[in-house]
Amino acid sequence: MSEQDQKKLPGAAPDAPVHSAGAGEGTGGLAERYREALLPVFGSPQRILARGAGVRVWDTDGTEYLDLLGGIAVNALGHAHPAILSALTKQAETLGHVSNFFATAPQIELAEKLLTLAGAPAGSGVFFANSGSEANEAAFKIARRTGRPRILALSNSFHGRTMGALALTSKEAYRAPFEPLPGGVEFLEAGDERALAEALAPGDVAAVFAEPIQGEAGVRPLGGEYLRALRRLTRDHGTLLVLDEVQTGMGRTGHWFAHQAIEGLQPDVMTLAKGLGGGFPVGAVLSFGADVHDLLQPGQHGTTFGGNPLAAAAGLAVIGTLLEEGLLEHVRTVGAQVSADVLALEHPLITEVRGDGLLLGIGLAQPIAKQVAAEALEAGFILNAPDESTLRLAPPLIITSADLDTFVAALPDLLTAATADGE
Ligand code: PLP
Repeated sequence: MSEQDQKKLPGAAPDAPVHSAGAGEGTGGLAERYREALLPVFGSPQRILARGAGVRVWDTDGTEYLDLLGGIAVNALGHAHPAILSALTKQAETLGHVSNFFATAPQIELAEKLLTLAGAPAGSGVFFANSGSEANEAAFKIARRTGRPRILALSNSFHGRTMGALALTSKEAYRAPFEPLPGGVEFLEAGDERALAEALAPGDVAAVFAEPIQGEAGVRPLGGEYLRALRRLTRDHGTLLVLDEVQTGMGRTGHWFAHQAIEGLQPDVMTLAKGLGGGFPVGAVLSFGADVHDLLQPGQHGTTFGGNPLAAAAGLAVIGTLLEEGLLEHVRTVGAQVSADVLALEHPLITEVRGDGLLLGIGLAQPIAKQVAAEALEAGFILNAPDESTLRLAPPLIITSADLDTFVAALPDLLTAATADGE
């Protein structure tokens, strides 16, 4: 920390102006009030949203948007889905929160459902958290409890922003301001089997953390061959394979979990969040089999809100609806269709479509993805640019082909407008 930074630490001077709510504004001026009231972590909000229904949201000016991002792979059932509303209302009327000295039926039921969907063997178990980062923190602790000193993560990984999750995240810009991070983590080139074999050979690696599709890195699948090698080598060396399915889980790829696209592949630990609560904060860690079950002993980890009955009720509503409405198959169908339609544009700026189901990255030949996303917003489509040359689509899983068609039809004009922006 620089000397100048240190001098700033004591906080606001005693005579600093005091915040006053609303500062005399009406319902307008929300952007200004945001800047006054919130820390500048996310920069300025692109829009202030007022409501959502299905796959659409409206901003405070009443402008409508087709939500092709779903809160970044969160709003699995879209906005204000009746199944979630009814589950939350019923649960809130019945029992809203208990301490973790107690348990509730929804918490137990959600854990059982997740284990079943994951095909987890006897002796498996679930720990509930509130976010993806927190789920990865718990997985990090499980790894530490093996007693082995080294943990491996992959190039371009993203596992969250809390200190442990950040230690597993490769991006230097996210890490550097917060050094020193928890130690013992090494990064391997994703896809490099030889490097993996060499790193595991000494037998002192507790765990390898990997995302089956690296979402924040631009929707980059690790690929079946590398995932199989990860499983084989970690098993051979008694190392835990931790799959972070925070972004890829809960039907997003047309499978309950992305790794299930690969016959017979099962991790030792899996982390979930995002789509699991369909817009309400739920995270989970699944440990597979008896060997992992007792690594975290009673009293070694905990959380106030994890497993909260309202959060669990939301998770159950998401799973129930995905099942009842056959949405996994729907995701596979519309995902394949929109990928094919984007490629069929044969647009010179579109190089490829990566990903699976409804987690898709449209690769661009030029670094204009941020401009395209800005043009899309102006045209009424919400999507984002995880890197300079990728557009990410992660819409609600209920989205129809007709809605996706409107985006594909608009895409050439958005690309043209974005190219003009840069000139
Ligand atoms: N892991 C992955 C793969 C993610 O994509 C994210 C968020 O984008 C996280 C972890 C962190 O989740 P959260 O933002 O809920 O803490």
